[in-house]
Amino acid sequence: MIAPFTYTGNPAKIVFGPGQRDGVAGWMDKIGCARALILSTPAQRAEAEALAGRLGDKAVGVFAGAAMHTPVEVTESALEQVRAVSADCVVALGGGSTTGLGKAIAYRTDIPQIVIATTYAGSEVTPILGQTENGVKTTVRDPSILPEVVIYDPDLTLGLPLAMSVTSGLNAMAHAAEGLYAQDRNPVSTLMAAEGLRAFRDALPVIVRDPANAEARGEALYGAWLCGTVLGTVGMALHHKICHTLGGSFDTPHAETHAILLPHTIGYNAGAVPELLAPVSAVFGGSPGAALFDFAASIGAPSALRDLGLSEADLDRAADLAVRNPYWNPRPIDRESIRALLQDAWEGRRPAV
Ligand code: NAD
Repeated sequence: MIAPFTYTGNPAKIVFGPGQRDGVAGWMDKIGCARALILSTPAQRAEAEALAGRLGDKAVGVFAGAAMHTPVEVTESALEQVRAVSADCVVALGGGSTTGLGKAIAYRTDIPQIVIATTYAGSEVTPILGQTENGVKTTVRDPSILPEVVIYDPDLTLGLPLAMSVTSGLNAMAHAAEGLYAQDRNPVSTLMAAEGLRAFRDALPVIVRDPANAEARGEALYGAWLCGTVLGTVGMALHHKICHTLGGSFDTPHAETHAILLPHTIGYNAGAVPELLAPVSAVFGGSPGAALFDFAASIGAPSALRDLGLSEADLDRAADLAVRNPYWNPRPIDRESIRALLQDAWEGRRPAV
């Protein structure tokens, strides 16, 4: 029997395919924009400048200062440039950090965003913005934050470093895995989650062997769209809460933190909702937490929080923070169990289930 559900799709234009990065000018015309500020991190400045060159008069500047966790002071200097060059849209070329800057600008000005996504983080299809000010990370959700046009061009991911490809893929898979047991899940989000997991299961081992494999890169980016869309449409639980806590309070790197915790958080919930996590077992074979651990190990993912610079003494405070504000999770949360989960993840122990 189909359980009652509510479904809301996010109103974004998704453009997928090799070479689609050359369609930016056309998409600007279609959304009524003529003056784009191109955004990137310092590491992707050359690609951003090349894009600006191809756009000619339609690009009015490049701001290559995007940084992890969207610091408000970076947003403010980008806003100065938006005003100085009278930009009427932003084009964000990069991963979640660059997308976050575009979202922060759109949240304050409501100018449209075109995102060219080059990692698997999924931020480009969510109406969620996480930003940091004075060391405190806050999250806002607003329709103005959702990018209007998202371009997925697998060619741009051919050079995504291997370690980042693996951890970013596991980051995306975490959105899908938690989406399977979301309270507000619906048949579409569940289909997308299962297909997203399958896409990464097939693509990541090929990418590990052959990072420039165009077909696998396409499949992984397709998986990223699916998993990101799940993140953008249904609520998350324990896994995202712990990753947010570790990233926000201990500055652990985003994708690696997700990659390490995924088997442990899904293993924690597996006994509470076995039927909802059945797609994970179907895709990876075995019980969900252990199967995800084995998959992550097979593609060379990091497995222990201690390798991210987190000390064992930090785990007590991390557990306190992770249980401080009550939130929904399929299995009840208590401090002792979360502390034990963190210990396992810190040591890199394989979950039993
Ligand atoms: P990132 O955007 O910080 O990218 C990491 C590094 O890789 C950067 O230097 C970047 O320039 C480089 N890079 C990206 N793509 C590349 C490519 N194809 N080739 C070579 N180098 C490339 O990392 P991320 O994991 O994509 O994003 C993490 C950030 O996104 C975090 O701040 C996280 O909180 C945020 N995020 C937000 C949401 C949301 O819905 N709001 C969702 C997921 C992630």
